[in-house]
Amino acid sequence: MSHYQALLSRLSDVASLREAAAVLGYDQQTAMPPGGVQGRARQLALLSRLSHETFTAEETGRLLEAAAAEVGTEGDEDAPRMVRVAREDYAQATKLPTEYVAAFAQATSLGYQTWVRARQAKDFAMFAPTLKRLVELARQGADYLGYDEHPYDALLGQYERGMTTRQVAAIFEAHRPALVELISAIQAAPQVDDSPLRQHFPIEAQKRFATEVVQAMGFDFQRGAQAVAVHPFCTSFGVNDVRITTRFDENFLSPALFGMIHEAGHGMYEQGSAQELDGTLLAGGTSLGVHESQSRLWENMIGRSESFWRWAYPKLQAAFPDQLEDVSLDAFYQAINKVQPSFIRVEADEATYNLHIILRFELEQALLTGDLTVDDLPQAWNDKFSAYFGMTPPDDALGVLQDVHWSSGLMGYFPTYALGNLLAAQYLAQARRAMPSLMDDVAQGQFGGLLGWLRENIHRHGRKFTSAELTQRICGEGINPAPYVAYLQTKYCAIYGL
Ligand code: ZN
Repeated sequence: MSHYQALLSRLSDVASLREAAAVLGYDQQTAMPPGGVQGRARQLALLSRLSHETFTAEETGRLLEAAAAEVGTEGDEDAPRMVRVAREDYAQATKLPTEYVAAFAQATSLGYQTWVRARQAKDFAMFAPTLKRLVELARQGADYLGYDEHPYDALLGQYERGMTTRQVAAIFEAHRPALVELISAIQAAPQVDDSPLRQHFPIEAQKRFATEVVQAMGFDFQRGAQAVAVHPFCTSFGVNDVRITTRFDENFLSPALFGMIHEAGHGMYEQGSAQELDGTLLAGGTSLGVHESQSRLWENMIGRSESFWRWAYPKLQAAFPDQLEDVSLDAFYQAINKVQPSFIRVEADEATYNLHIILRFELEQALLTGDLTVDDLPQAWNDKFSAYFGMTPPDDALGVLQDVHWSSGLMGYFPTYALGNLLAAQYLAQARRAMPSLMDDVAQGQFGGLLGWLRENIHRHGRKFTSAELTQRICGEGINPAPYVAYLQTKYCAIYGL
């Protein structure tokens, strides 16, 4: 057996252990009874220890170097790319000392409980000591991982390989003023009516319709399945078994319908990795930003487009005649695209979403460098929120305490959500250039052209290319916010008559 094959075999063990853990995690959130909690924690801890030990063992390092000598690390073929990505993952995984990993795990498990209580009490002071500890650990982690310019680079790099804080800051700064301007113009215009979406929609009928939609879009139910979960997510146990989850609200049509399209967007990306990559470290999405670009593209740019509803709306009306018979396509299209600045990020529409992220990105950096202290954070949050959205959160639960991420030690993660929106617009613009009839096809319920383009240009590569490399290959440039801003302006100027 060659060194490269020996490496693949070892990494396939790592992938299998991770996939088995994913099965248990999926079951935990979709089917496990409450009594299973402790046993499940024990099983998951064992699997994560085994996969970490297998991956970070010296034997893996030895095989990596032998394989690198054998197949090289240059060029775009699978083998050198496999070695390069595995080397980067290995370097990341072996940089953090065991004591640090243990201290981090302990601080975050306690952090989560403290955050839940502080948010319930709407009292940031309860969470402040914990957050101070977590910021300190984030700084230490950045030092262990290493960076050239900014400690935030090290944290960001865990989710977007090779991307720097300076790049993200420039991208955000380049479109923040346009977003603020668009939102304030929308707020000054007459509001659209979304009451047609807030009627009684029986859950079984919602499920049938949404399933039909994602199947038509191309989510493959021979290699995927759908279940109900409180916090929707997508997970995969390999290229040929991808699970999506949905949450239903019988008095509001949007969460399940657009939520299922969103998760199916993630799911189609996972299902689209080349079969040869299954069971290797190259299978799956290349970064959180590119992953989010796929979910947002299908959810918002297709799923909330007028073209899409020209095809889908008669079907929706047939599924819910009592609720929608007297609602015109135009009124429905406006309702699903209502823009309403809100305090809570997860409820944000596509026009206001990136501002929520930019705010967090700026505060996270300042915390990490020490320019902002944890004690001053709530005031800094409210000041920024009022500058960007023109309103001030009435309490910490609707402000600085709203998101779980910091309590779980996740810093450097938020920017990927906003990058996803930007990349989605760039990729779709490119796809439309390649296929001028794309939106007409969508209006006919034909999605194969778009999915085929995404498969060919993005999905099949898995993790072979970083988001920057992928975007350069597809668009001939790096991440550029201009197509996203243009998309929002065109769409919302029409909807709000600006
Ligand atoms: Zn997502």
